[in-house]
Amino acid sequence: MRPVDDQAFRDAMRVLERRHRVTDWAAEMTSFEILVSTILSQSTTVRNERLGMDGLRAAFGDLTPETLATASPRAIERAIWHAGLARRKSRHIRDVARIVSRDLGGDLDRVLRRPAGESREVLLALPGVGPKTADVMLAMAANRPVFPVDTHVARVARRWGLVRRADYEETREALEKRTSPSRRKAWHLAMIAHGRETCTARNPRCGACPVSTECDWYRARNRRRRDKPLR
Ligand code: SF4
Repeated sequence: MRPVDDQAFRDAMRVLERRHRVTDWAAEMTSFEILVSTILSQSTTVRNERLGMDGLRAAFGDLTPETLATASPRAIERAIWHAGLARRKSRHIRDVARIVSRDLGGDLDRVLRRPAGESREVLLALPGVGPKTADVMLAMAANRPVFPVDTHVARVARRWGLVRRADYEETREALEKRTSPSRRKAWHLAMIAHGRETCTARNPRCGACPVSTECDWYRARNRRRRDKPLR
């Protein structure tokens, strides 16, 4: 196995960044909305997550910690059913809203202004918030130089030979080591777009991939095909 080297990684990411021209989906959202949206996005598609957010807005209006802290989990569940795992997510959203409004002064931004390690710890203590959600918050809501790892990013990193195991922290460290702080958010978004559109879990479109020459997975697959004995 020959992992993509640091320079090749940066070249590939520049190609993906130019190709996808991704937008910052969180630009118009409050920190609390970004957190709700990220909880909704767990184990579902972007489309269903957005339908879940639309459902919440239709049912509750402005999505503030105060509004959702007093909502019943059943009402939240009905509003977000598109996003899947609605029972679990509705409890997490209601409990997070309660903690933010009662224990954190209703102001998530104050938490996000703390040093990154401290913010991460507070976020990780919230219901339904794991390392990915905490890092998405730090990157998208607080503009911190982290490289969140979602399912698409993890898959591409493994195929490029950057990591061998599906370990969150190992993958994040491998990506952050190779990415300057100023590019981490943009490359996180570009890698997600690449994973969704080209480097899909099943049947990746390697023939249309602009970075296939750097891809260990692609090279290994071609080698296996070449070496296969003719019948
Ligand atoms: S060559 Fe295929 S597996 Fe490799 S990054 Fe491109 S789409 Fe993904």
